[in-house]
Amino acid sequence: MHHERRLITIDDYEPYIGREGIKRIRQKARPLQDLHVTNINSTYYGGGVAELLSSLTLLMNGLGIRTGWRIIQGSPDFFSVTKKMHNALQGGDIHLTTQKKEIYESTVFENSVRNHLDHDMVIVHDPQPLPLIRHYTKHGPWIWRCHVDLSQPHAGLWEYLSSFVELYDAVILTREEYRRDLHTPQLYFMPAIDPFSIKNREFSEAEVEKRLQYYNIPTDLPLVVQISRFDKWKDPEGVIQAFKLARKQVDATLVLLGNVATDDPEGEEVYDALVHQRDERIIILSKQDTALVNALQRKAAVVLQKSIREGFGLTVTEALWKGTPVIGGDVGGIRLQIENGENGFLVSSVEEAAERIVQLLKDPELARKLGRAGRETVREKFLMSRYLENYLDLFGSFETIYRLRS
Ligand code: UDP
Repeated sequence: MHHERRLITIDDYEPYIGREGIKRIRQKARPLQDLHVTNINSTYYGGGVAELLSSLTLLMNGLGIRTGWRIIQGSPDFFSVTKKMHNALQGGDIHLTTQKKEIYESTVFENSVRNHLDHDMVIVHDPQPLPLIRHYTKHGPWIWRCHVDLSQPHAGLWEYLSSFVELYDAVILTREEYRRDLHTPQLYFMPAIDPFSIKNREFSEAEVEKRLQYYNIPTDLPLVVQISRFDKWKDPEGVIQAFKLARKQVDATLVLLGNVATDDPEGEEVYDALVHQRDERIIILSKQDTALVNALQRKAAVVLQKSIREGFGLTVTEALWKGTPVIGGDVGGIRLQIENGENGFLVSSVEEAAERIVQLLKDPELARKLGRAGRETVREKFLMSRYLENYLDLFGSFETIYRLRS
């Protein structure tokens, strides 16, 4: 007895993008048949990059592009250095010592010895595996896909990292505002979600209730929800403060759900610093359960993503797709998704977040209106079919260049 689920292919997107959309994508994939592509990042789960790669790699294979996914291995020391780099790229500070550089570069070198890459295209994600490129003879273009908010990187760190970035054939950033001064061409791909994944597919009310009951999440009052890795940039502390303020005017339950990615050593600390604030109406959960994410995003009266920095914020997209009104921090990629007052609210302070929570809980008609607009935004702009097409266009342009050269 076999239990494989049928693989989702681009044809499944027809209800969302129409026959024309499917035809166009299939046409773009045709000249790329049998291309051998690999992606390299630093974790198979937890966080947006893993989320994107799991769907995208399958869709690409379904189109005849042989697309793989590898991760680099590293000790806790390595991930501690790369997390510091991640923080500093988003505007934090870093003391970039020779020792840190040595841990970083040696680990990546060791990974290059283990990974034999002779693909037609290599896509390297984020800073962790960035220096890999130094150790290979290229057989085709190497692309650095950076998912981080690069609007104000730490100057010294960026100078150091850009010496690796310059070796790539192209850099993909999430938005134009993250553009840096580089010789390498820069492109902009906004991330997207898979509407068929367990996290995003339709859930019956019974399925939702069952998931919430399993974790003893009370549904007697409206739910205010934030789902994020336990990371200071997601501002979980600010979420709790905003909720406490809002509760002076409306009754509700807050659920903060988080997980800890294997490449993020700070998660546990952030979680530990929050748990003392738990009470009957403040639920803080650290779980890895995608069906629970789906259930919460559907059941929530309001989803918050009160980030202080955010490369894109897939949690925003996921909630918008479910027709749930979202209050997002007015930063980075959240601005690409929420148009204030149209399909959600953008906020810049705890007080503003609290006001919007109160407003949405008191005005279900407004909540429904924003929710409907949010779902439409995602259908138009943030489904995986569009992200896939961005890559097909890029591969296509490289193929033309390479064919002309050979
Ligand atoms: N996520 C999850 N469980 C959690 C917290 C987050 O599955 O407890 C998922 C979330 O649904 C989203 C991804 O992790 O798909 C986070 O991506 P996002 O772009 O929001 O932020 P990142 O973690 O990449 O900074």
